[in-house]
Amino acid sequence: MTFERDNIAAMQGYSYGEQPSDTQTLKLNTNESPFPPSPAVQQALASFDAAMLRIYPNATADPLRDRLAAGHGVARDNIVVTHGGDEALRLALTTFVTPGAGFGMAEPSYSLYPVLAQVQDARVVPVDLDSNWQLPTDAAQTWNAEGVELTCIVNPHAPSGTLASAAQLDTLAGQLNGLLLIDEAYADFVDPAVQYQSTELLKKHNNILILRTFSKGYGLAGLRLGYLIGNTELIQPVLEKTRDSYNIDHISQTLGAAAYADQAYAEKTWGAVRSARSNLAAGLGQLGFTMPESQTNFLLVKPPLGASAERLYQALKEKKILVRYFDAPGLDDKLRITVGTDEQNQRLIEAIGQLMP
Ligand SMILES: *Cc1c(COP(=O)(O)O)cnc(C)c1O
Repeated sequence: MTFERDNIAAMQGYSYGEQPSDTQTLKLNTNESPFPPSPAVQQALASFDAAMLRIYPNATADPLRDRLAAGHGVARDNIVVTHGGDEALRLALTTFVTPGAGFGMAEPSYSLYPVLAQVQDARVVPVDLDSNWQLPTDAAQTWNAEGVELTCIVNPHAPSGTLASAAQLDTLAGQLNGLLLIDEAYADFVDPAVQYQSTELLKKHNNILILRTFSKGYGLAGLRLGYLIGNTELIQPVLEKTRDSYNIDHISQTLGAAAYADQAYAEKTWGAVRSARSNLAAGLGQLGFTMPESQTNFLLVKPPLGASAERLYQALKEKKILVRYFDAPGLDDKLRITVGTDEQNQRLIEAIGQLMP
């Protein structure tokens, strides 16, 4: 006899990337930034008055929302701040997906999506990506036929790193009966020359939500801060009904605002990641690895013929280098490697060089 709801008893939880506690391990497995947050964050933390914690924080994180709104060229009412992007995903499901209704996702993509859908007792409707990590042209038809109320698309895509154009998302949003959540956890790392811009789509479609996070591009995975951008009809129910009251603590609001105010620093780190990304891709390419072009801070690499991704993952782990191995169809012959600093990536390349026959 169990007290859990049936859907909870039947599901498995999310499996986290390993978080080693030692400091020698080179962590290239969970896509954190290799750079610390802006020095302005350290200053804001040092000057934070603990006495302020006696009172509740700004309930709707208005000062931070104002900054984010200005940065994205939208209004405060188009933003809701969340406890990490992960809470934004959970709130999207809670607010917009009826238990028993369909939840759409591409396969593979972020492995938290099905977990959150199962918590909501939604029916997960996965659509397989093709060998170029593209959705089939009839994906929306499949989701509509299955009564999908919300589809999450991560763009740039995880775990491949590839970018879909805003035009592709425009088409998809137009085809879907339900909502389209564009998970832009890695959008900060997109080459500016590509001119990827999705907020314009909000003017044209009433069924789009955009997710952003401080975890990757602002070096603040430990703070737990993310947000949704969308039209007020979609933001308002999340902000006023389904969100926890006071979901963003005072320290997070303060540090998040300090980080966001220092765009120059953030952009510098994104540029450094892009440069390290192309160096890492070149280095691994020389060792015979292949990979799709990444617009994120990770690479999905396939070892040269004859080398097992799983064995390489294990061998690197023994050398205290952690990368991510997914024991899943289409991924079990590849490794997902977070882009580190040039120095860290060199250590990885040297280790792999020693391990390859
Ligand atoms: C990291 C990530 C998120 C959000 O992570 P948080 O740390 O909760 O902000 C969302 N989607 C994808 C695909 C991610 O990789």
